[in-house]
Amino acid sequence: MRLIILLLVTVGCGETGLRQTQVTWDTRLLPIISAFEKDCGVDVRVSSIGFGNTDGPNELGYCMGTSQIVLASWLDEYLWDLVLYHELGHCALGLGHSKGIMSAELDINDSIYDNWDNKVKQLCRSYK
Ligand SMILES: [Zn+2]
Repeated sequence: MRLIILLLVTVGCGETGLRQTQVTWDTRLLPIISAFEKDCGVDVRVSSIGFGNTDGPNELGYCMGTSQIVLASWLDEYLWDLVLYHELGHCALGLGHSKGIMSAELDINDSIYDNWDNKVKQLCRSYK
């Protein structure tokens, strides 16, 4: 049922501003971080990545400065890769919003991982 609801909305991320949320490393996210490092050829140097409160139901996650990434605590597991790659694009690569994975309005539907490899290449190329 949740998937059907998500099909109808686009959601974004909060890119700026100081937040009070403190999160600690969530080890479930480590394989995704490792994959990102390998894909983009960078070392991820952030102080914390985990799950916490975001600013309402349309915010999937946010990146604070270059040091902390928070993913919405209610985020379905199948969205972790997309949202974490997006936030790492901000925090680890210093990218702003553009298109593809870095779109300001992530289009959440059942085709989000179609052509994933190409989307990742586009993301990493934006940095290099
Ligand atoms: Zn963003």
